[in-house]
Amino acid sequence: MDGAPLARVELLGRCVEWHGHLCMGQVLGLRMALKGMELVGTRDPKRLIVFIENARCVADAIQVVTGTRAGKRSAKILDLGKTAATFLDLESGRAWRVAVREFADPPGGKDAACRAALEIPDETLFTWREVVVRPDPMELPGRPLRAVPCARCGETVLDGRDVECAEGPLCRSCAGGAYYEEERERE
Ligand SMILES: [Zn+2]
Ligand SMILES: [Zn+2]
Repeated sequence: MDGAPLARVELLGRCVEWHGHLCMGQVLGLRMALKGMELVGTRDPKRLIVFIENARCVADAIQVVTGTRAGKRSAKILDLGKTAATFLDLESGRAWRVAVREFADPPGGKDAACRAALEIPDETLFTWREVVVRPDPMELPGRPLRAVPCARCGETVLDGRDVECAEGPLCRSCAGGAYYEEERERE
């Protein structure tokens, strides 16, 4: 991000545009992102990896505000069902985890509550602590370190996600971990 950081209200506008609606998740994700970047001391998305602990609204806002992206491998969506995220600065190697506390929605309708939550003090909204994250080299941004064809289906498997078997490297689906089933032949 160049120049002066955007005000929270402007950032919220960007989040809503990307996510598709205004919700408390956009406010919380935005606030988590600002806090995380403040704690690690950088706003440079090329230096950041963010581990986002849920696959809901906050995950979009965190990506918008930090500039990290799932598709650039700089945002990791872990889907652990928790409203928390860890911000890792690849240059210093330091990481901070920010978790949202239980809090009562500010009064008013949804829009008013969301705008009011932009200004809730950090201490009311979050807990945070420094943690250690050691990302696997296969998880880092940049070109894939490994790309091999699956010995059974022939499809290319990137990033070391293949499984070594007697017949050669297999994709996880062929190795027995598919999230889908083959459609049965219809009579
Ligand atoms: Zn939402
Ligand atoms: Zn396969």
